[in-house]
Amino acid sequence: MRTITVIGAGQSGLQLGIGLLDAGYDVRIVSNRTGEEISSGRVSSSQCMFGSALARERALGLDFWTAECPDVEGIGFTVPDGNGGKAISWAARLDLPAQSVDQRVKMPRWMREFTDRGGRLDIHDATLDDLEDYARESDLVLVAAGKGEIAKMFERDAARSTFDRPQRALSLTYVTGMTPREPHSAVSFNLMPGIGEYFVFPALTTSGPCEIMVMEGVPGGPMDCFDGVGDPQQHLETAKKIVETYLPWEAERCRDLALTDDLGVLAGRFPPTVRRPIGVLPSGTPVLGMADVVVLNDPITGQGSNNAAKCASSYLSSILEHGDRPFDRQFMLDTFERYWDYAKYVVDWTNGLLVPPPEHALALLAAAGENPRIARRFANGFDDPRDFFHWFMDPDSARSYLDDLAPVA
Ligand SMILES: Cc1cc2nc3c(=O)[nH]c(=O)nc-3n(C[C@H](O)[C@H](O)[C@H](O)COP(=O)(O)OP(=O)(O)OC[C@H]3O[C@@H](n4cnc5c(N)ncnc54)[C@H](O)[C@@H]3O)c2cc1C
Repeated sequence: MRTITVIGAGQSGLQLGIGLLDAGYDVRIVSNRTGEEISSGRVSSSQCMFGSALARERALGLDFWTAECPDVEGIGFTVPDGNGGKAISWAARLDLPAQSVDQRVKMPRWMREFTDRGGRLDIHDATLDDLEDYARESDLVLVAAGKGEIAKMFERDAARSTFDRPQRALSLTYVTGMTPREPHSAVSFNLMPGIGEYFVFPALTTSGPCEIMVMEGVPGGPMDCFDGVGDPQQHLETAKKIVETYLPWEAERCRDLALTDDLGVLAGRFPPTVRRPIGVLPSGTPVLGMADVVVLNDPITGQGSNNAAKCASSYLSSILEHGDRPFDRQFMLDTFERYWDYAKYVVDWTNGLLVPPPEHALALLAAAGENPRIARRFANGFDDPRDFFHWFMDPDSARSYLDDLAPVA
């Protein structure tokens, strides 16, 4: 039986580990936190996942919250006009609902599932020395440690990384008491050029249904104001103040907000980074990075957990198809490049939204307010961002798409 060690019990590590167990592999996952520590700890993400990523979880029997978790039924998009009104505003339904299950709920349950299905879970903060041991004992070591320090053993890929510093100051606020969006639930996405983005959507947290307020402040701008706000109530007041100042239609939904819990807040920033897929241990042994370790996106497009799920299933197929052959460097490169065939589009689209929107993109987003076909296509692009490259990402394809639509209109 082939032995595989995965460092990190997050979205990608657990999903891959469970998939490998089901295929008959001997799997060890190393986590630096116990399930109890994760469930009683701080929120780490807003983790909204779209239909095709959720389907990958369902295929492994890991969809434990489908009935309990509120559906995110669409995407709403608004650009304020700067005078208290809206310059652009539309909404469209998703073909398949999205869902966000707090990782504090999901990961401890998946850890139990992993051990119930026969996996070995070691609680340990893995170091490079540990990796040497794991590499000796395993046919393959994967590093799925997210933004953990150990990811730095993978060299930054300068050619594939657009930015070398954080592009947004991030903040999460998990709340109850928000007035539901009508007529259907959605990721309500508000784009304030030069200031930042605010999006909000329903989710399931440790105490039940909630809404997650995500703020992405342009560094140095008025929304970059969460650093040093240690008190959770003050964090909530800061988030409410931003909404009241710039987005009155969102403020109306926020009259009776309360935090889900004192650890339902987060603030931070990081540079979006693509790393080389192979990390080399001091002994010269290669290990393979996955998901956020190698392709870390800004959360502006809400793709990280979706990518992690898609990376896990892509790597699972690569491992299974490789059979009994050695997991050498060539295998590692091929496995990553196969995932990169998808991920590179997510990276380019996400990075494109971090810079001021070009004229053709604003024109398309404005046209979506008049034409529900465009709105629907934009909304469903969140499930598979490759589609944006047919009509959204450059002026020529945008023009020909609008020209195609004109006779129909
Ligand atoms: C503010 C914010 C909002 C977000 N919103 C969304 C969203 O709406 N939709 C979306 O799809 N994505 C979102 N994401 C991104 C998403 O959460 C991540 O991309 C996803 O969790 C990455 O999965 P992963 O498996 O790579 O790593 P993680 O899920 O981060 O898991 C890594 C695990 O490894 C453990 N670990 C680290 N180092 C070690 C070590 N040395 N030894 C042992 N264990 C270790 C960590 O404790 C952690 O449990 C958001 C992220 C942020 C920061």
